[in-house]
Amino acid sequence: MESVIFEERQNQVHRKGKQPFDLACNKDSLAGAVSQRACVFCGSRVVLYPIADALHLVHGPIGCAAYTWDIRGALSSGPELHRLSFSTDLQERDVIFGGEKKLYRALKELIERHHPKAAFVYSTCIVGLIGDDLEGVCKKAGKKTGIPVLPVQSEGFKGNKRAGYHAACQAMFRLVGTGDTTGISKKSLNILGDFNLAGEIWIIRDYFKRMGIEVVANITGDGRVGDLQRAHGAALNVVQCSGATMDLALMMEEVYGIPHVRVSYFGVEDMAESLYTVARFFDDPKVMERTRKLVRDELAGLYPRLQEFRRALTGKKAAIYVGGAFKAFSLVKAFRLLGMEVVLVGSQTGTPQDYQELHDITDEGTIIVDDSNPLELSSFLKEKDVDIFVGGVKERPIAYKLGVGFCDHNHERKEALEGFVGMLNFAQEVYNTVMSPVWQFVPRKAGVRGQWSVASNQ
Ligand code: SF4
Repeated sequence: MESVIFEERQNQVHRKGKQPFDLACNKDSLAGAVSQRACVFCGSRVVLYPIADALHLVHGPIGCAAYTWDIRGALSSGPELHRLSFSTDLQERDVIFGGEKKLYRALKELIERHHPKAAFVYSTCIVGLIGDDLEGVCKKAGKKTGIPVLPVQSEGFKGNKRAGYHAACQAMFRLVGTGDTTGISKKSLNILGDFNLAGEIWIIRDYFKRMGIEVVANITGDGRVGDLQRAHGAALNVVQCSGATMDLALMMEEVYGIPHVRVSYFGVEDMAESLYTVARFFDDPKVMERTRKLVRDELAGLYPRLQEFRRALTGKKAAIYVGGAFKAFSLVKAFRLLGMEVVLVGSQTGTPQDYQELHDITDEGTIIVDDSNPLELSSFLKEKDVDIFVGGVKERPIAYKLGVGFCDHNHERKEALEGFVGMLNFAQEVYNTVMSPVWQFVPRKAGVRGQWSVASNQ
């Protein structure tokens, strides 16, 4: 079969067991390969927009603002200003004469109308090209309105999605340290890198509460500007989705001396280990005892039900392609718990350390891929004859076109997949998808040569 991997991308694909592991990653996407990655602006927007009492204004043409709450739904327990999407809607005239005046007018009007606690102003490609002074306009608007107005330097062309994460962290860091930390407990933490999809951060906050630990700031799911401003009063930063928010954790460590730990709330093993990691940090026997009880209680009802799914799913094959590699680690373990084999795993933004960890935990023959594209992914799915593909909004059509089951593990999902209850939801969803009778009626890929056939419904 003819290879669909471009010559220049050969070193970003590895088949475990064939040669020593040395995967190229963390670099700009190859022109012409049509990466699954989003742009820099999109990376910033994903991280910041769950801050629910802030104004989010996209300075650029209207098309850049397409990723609205209605597509990606981070939930809020209070204000919902983040659900509104604002854009300066730059037109040809603005490109010629500059968009600074329009931006200032928009900021003034929106802040007067919506009374946000802060405003984030996102720079897009065209703003980088015409050279609008975002910093200057934000400063002026902040002075006039009395709230923090924060520029997010996220011009779409200036790098890959990771550069957007960095721009978001820099913008948030300007808020940190500006609030009052009086009354914050010594046993306290900030939750970084959880976006409260389907209410997941509420599950995690409840676990920490049961352990006797105060959560100072959600960064950023169900986030609040005031909490971010006093986040430097917490004793620990607990970082999930390290690609998105690790930069903020490192800045807070350097300036405020707050240590961080890396966690994942997906799957039974990683969820339990994350809680134990936090308990060990606080080095308090009572916290540890509460944590043990929490894990015991949660697992008691969970395991028997997981065993039922395992019986049905054992031997089925899964493929994983996600934004951040942390999720891939947990998914590999979660599928193993369900008796399934992971035959393909990749991410958009993994680092050398991430991929080494993936290599260590996967089985022989697994394809490991960095910054892939639809052509490659389709060919891998056909070659490995998978039963389910886990990814995000851009991977869904690839799976369905091939007649393969799909599980949404990205910002569009409406089902909580974090925590112990999330593992049960995940198992249920995988079971429903893989075992669905619908596959009898759709054209299904077949085997390593990518031939097509209609599955028998006998
Ligand atoms: S690449 Fe540029 S023009 Fe396209 S959405 Fe991103 S910022 Fe907007």
